Amino acid sequence: MKRIAIVDKDKCNPAGCGNYLCAKLCPINREGTDCIFVGDDKKAKIDEALCIGCGICVHRCPFGAIEIINLPEELKKNPIHRYGQNEFALYSLPTPIFGKVVGILGVNGIGKSTAIKIIAGVLKPNLGNFDSEATFQELVQYFKGTEAQNFFEAVRDGKIVPAYKPQAVDAIPKQFAGTVRELLTKADQKQKLAEMSAALDLTKLLDHNIEHISGGELQRVAIAATALKRANLYIFDEPASYLDIKQRFKVSDLIKSLADENTAVLVIEHDLIILDYVADLVHLMYGKEGVFGVVSLPKTARVGINVFLSGHLKEENIRFRDHEIRFGSKPPDHKEGKAAISAWRDVSKKLGNFTLAAAQGAINQNEIIGVLGENGIGKTSFVKLLAKVMDPDFGVIDEKIVVAYKPQYLQPNEELVMTVLHDAITKYEAQLIKPLNLKGLFTKQLNHLSGGELQRVAIANCLSQKADLYLLDEPSAYLDVEQRLLVSRIIHDIMELRGTSCVIIDHDLLFVDYISKKIMVFDGEPAVRGNVHGPFNMQDGMNKFLTMLNMTFRRDHESNRPRANKPGSQMDRVQKAGKKLYYI
Ligand code: SF4
Ligand code: SF4
Repeated sequence: MKRIAIVDKDKCNPAGCGNYLCAKLCPINREGTDCIFVGDDKKAKIDEALCIGCGICVHRCPFGAIEIINLPEELKKNPIHRYGQNEFALYSLPTPIFGKVVGILGVNGIGKSTAIKIIAGVLKPNLGNFDSEATFQELVQYFKGTEAQNFFEAVRDGKIVPAYKPQAVDAIPKQFAGTVRELLTKADQKQKLAEMSAALDLTKLLDHNIEHISGGELQRVAIAATALKRANLYIFDEPASYLDIKQRFKVSDLIKSLADENTAVLVIEHDLIILDYVADLVHLMYGKEGVFGVVSLPKTARVGINVFLSGHLKEENIRFRDHEIRFGSKPPDHKEGKAAISAWRDVSKKLGNFTLAAAQGAINQNEIIGVLGENGIGKTSFVKLLAKVMDPDFGVIDEKIVVAYKPQYLQPNEELVMTVLHDAITKYEAQLIKPLNLKGLFTKQLNHLSGGELQRVAIANCLSQKADLYLLDEPSAYLDVEQRLLVSRIIHDIMELRGTSCVIIDHDLLFVDYISKKIMVFDGEPAVRGNVHGPFNMQDGMNKFLTMLNMTFRRDHESNRPRANKPGSQMDRVQKAGKKLYYI
């Protein structure tokens, strides 16, 4: 059986384990052959051809640095790319198709970004021979007889011109100094700057300095800059991050409009409603995080997302989750009658030129409330009022309760994860540390964590506190779709167990649908005024929110998941006429 061995260089600490403990215990080494040996970097290295997969090194390494994985039988070929000996291997690639938006769906660390970097020409693959890059001829040969063969032939012949929006838009201010207009002018090969700025609500921002704009604004600038390039392959890595729901749909419409008979589009996205809306076809990526990744054959977006939710790729005979994820087609039963734990009346607060108002509402014991609304409309400020981080100018907020608060923007510092998570480690090993996979992060500093790792630490930190109400501001940011669903379950279970309540602000509608029992809606004018409405039951809350968006959602008949209707479609018209915008 073919297997792959991964040694995490950051974790491998030969001085701490008693001088290459793994090599001393490996049965092959004990027989006199160097299956585990010392690499040039003084870390342990494993010869995969000699390893028999006994697992002794995996279990005995005190730092959890080794993983040995048996590869699925069908992976007979060399990987398309491997970063180095005992490092991540990618086994196939998604295929761009002219005239289509092709989506890529998979957990973090499974090779999505590696795959699109190869397709965008940013990373030259090595076909598993990590000492040299493959030639185009070798690539064409590797993909002989597949769609990808045509693609690499076109790349070889210089016929593919890619434009690529990277995942990390936060890095743009470090690479470019100047205004939004200057950046977009530089990218504008189509002479469509004004049109693009209007489509993505950037016109008012054009003379702002890149350094001073928000994450959501940076995202839209990066998308506009990519779409303004003259290309025949557009690639968008997580275009929805930082955007509110209205902006997510606007960006999706723009991305869809780029695909034509001479132009292909690839999109990586974790917001399943947006992926479903934007993509014609979807590739699922499976394997093992940080070890290896495989790309499934393309499926229609509806089928691909349903397969993902089912947790089982039948054709490939791969089970990547032990349970199916299902949604309710009807609003959840909500029994009122529990005592209110927090209530507010006629609250208002002025923050510079922005005014926030909340007429009347209450949060009851053991409720999970989703909060929906545009960016810049006061959601985070309202959370801060409830959390008593600041006081209202007028009105009353009951202050009987203790609030634990996870902010939207996480401030990394030099503290160690194990210090921050002290309470979670001592009291909630099974409820938080294990499911959120935090053990491997204990000895890292917060400022050395990725966005997703920091988010998981912040969620665990908030939920480990003793409180009556938990306020989580954008917990889905940086998490992959699997982690979002997992976090939903963890929050649900903890609230049930403790009888406490949770308010969740998020822009991933499927995540909000999955977790919430009630909805609060914010409306107004961004940066000018915000009004707080609710909490409502799910049906009334979703209807109110979708009325603001002028959108409707239908249910998928297999998984019951919500799917956005095309504006003006028959379903859209029927549902609007019946005032059933979310539950049919
Ligand atoms: Fe020691 Fe683990 Fe590194 Fe092997 S992998 S040398 S057991 S720290
Ligand atoms: Fe040696 Fe492989 Fe067993 Fe590890 S899993 S101890 S490398 S034979």
